[in-house]
Amino acid sequence: MAAQNRTYGIDLGTTYSCIAYVDDTGRPVVAKNAIGQETTPSVVYMETADHVVVGQDAKSSAKLYPDLVVSLIKRQMGQKCDLTFHGTGHTPESISALILKEVARSAAEHTHEEVRDVVITVPAYFGVAEREATRNAGEIAGLNVLNLIPEPVAAALHYETLSAAPGRGPSTILVYDLGGGTFDTTVIRLEGDDVRVVCTDGDHRLGGADWDERVAGHLLDSFLAENPGSSAAESEDFLQELAIAAEDMKKGLSSAMSRRYNMRFDGGTARVELTRERFEALTEDLLARTFEITRRTLDVAAAQGVDRFDDVLLVGGSVRMPAVAEGLRQRFGFDPKLHDPDLAVAKGAARFALIEAVKVRLPGEADAASDAEVERAVEQAADQLGLEPEKVRMLAGRRVTTVVPRAFGVKVVDFTGDGREVFSVSHVLKANTALPADPVAERFVTAYENQTEIGVEIWEQAGSVESDDLADNARIGEGTITGLPRIRKGSPIDISFAMDELGTLTVHAVELQTQKELRIEVRIQGLSESQVEQARQAVARYAVSQ
Ligand code: AMP
Repeated sequence: MAAQNRTYGIDLGTTYSCIAYVDDTGRPVVAKNAIGQETTPSVVYMETADHVVVGQDAKSSAKLYPDLVVSLIKRQMGQKCDLTFHGTGHTPESISALILKEVARSAAEHTHEEVRDVVITVPAYFGVAEREATRNAGEIAGLNVLNLIPEPVAAALHYETLSAAPGRGPSTILVYDLGGGTFDTTVIRLEGDDVRVVCTDGDHRLGGADWDERVAGHLLDSFLAENPGSSAAESEDFLQELAIAAEDMKKGLSSAMSRRYNMRFDGGTARVELTRERFEALTEDLLARTFEITRRTLDVAAAQGVDRFDDVLLVGGSVRMPAVAEGLRQRFGFDPKLHDPDLAVAKGAARFALIEAVKVRLPGEADAASDAEVERAVEQAADQLGLEPEKVRMLAGRRVTTVVPRAFGVKVVDFTGDGREVFSVSHVLKANTALPADPVAERFVTAYENQTEIGVEIWEQAGSVESDDLADNARIGEGTITGLPRIRKGSPIDISFAMDELGTLTVHAVELQTQKELRIEVRIQGLSESQVEQARQAVARYAVSQ
């Protein structure tokens, strides 16, 4: 067989990242990092102008150099946020690229081949801007991003390979994914060759790090209670120390019933004992938020006729907290399974990467290839990927269908009785519509007499729940139909929204009287191609290590 051209799945997590590939026997394998661990902290220490450290050592350096260490960058993805280190500008994309570069580098050491073709995972609830930023981060890292995959779908793909039995009927699973910084619940239907997301919901600002913060706050309060007037709360060093201790205590409380910690600052001391019961009380509202979102997901699924689950999978490192499974049992009557919680996403992504690699090597449906051509392509792909042709045929048949994560719409104006303008968002493309979403058109009318222009503003649902309030939505694009001949108030305009499989949104507006059209392809807030290229060159100059 020809030299293999492996593809990799990367779980780019808020707190930890992980990379995996499918080995010659078809098993997903996690490539351990330089210090022999399966996951690498998603922490970057900008040590000098040309050297960065990623991972455990970077995490430990946070205490000494808080201004040069970046963590939880995933929470900034898709947002404008300029950071400067040693006089060089950075973005969430370029910082994430450094993490990706390091995990790819250490995987290359493990497999002795360059890592190029990858699939990167994203929370199911990531909007278009965050997905675009993630894809760009991969490109900035010099990787070829075959596709992105929602984390719960990756977890379901991995689960499926573990449980697959010939002749198995369709099954429905609920994935509860509580990672370091994000939370998702997703209902997935597995049927024949299809993996279909039924619905998804989540909060990308809720994760293990919030539990850590609570514990760190409790430690600080306990210290200040014993040392009144202390300036401990102003010491970055001391706070960093507490943050690290808090995560350790939290993890310890997943198996032990109580943990102790001794604090010392500026001559003052305090000793804290935290029981699991107290810890659960301190963080009860955080867990309750995940159950509220779970409830919402179940309601949406029920409305689509799904009310029975064959399995409830727990993924993400934070599901090791016993209160998670206990709560799901008590509140919903589930019997959840802890499912390879730290590695399932990367392993499933590795499998998806293989599926994608097969697909890019085969002629598309539109190419009207003859059977013989397809057969040749299968043989070639099998050869390139080091797989049996039968396996290539099987992988090529897999279809993974995801959904629109959030609602999209346009800004509309209404008038109060006294003629005041009131703006709101009218959603056209609803959350949980299957992708690719065919154009859905909705009719609007002009609001003023004699308009010669119509401005179309596109807004994306920003909060967890669809709301027409502007404050609960984010403006993501706009365009104007110009050159209209002073049309009457109330003239109709049709506006349609479509989204492709990769999440690119296209909005098409037509003023019906003149048939003047406007087509807006929404590439949101992201970096331009030249900015990505510039960042790629800048990141390529860094030496990255652990
Ligand atoms: P992930 O992003 O899925 O890698 O999740 C990492 C999160 O899981 C971090 O917030 C960790 O603190 C948390 N975590 C890892 N192990 C445990 C544990 N034994 N108990 C509680 N939380 C844990």
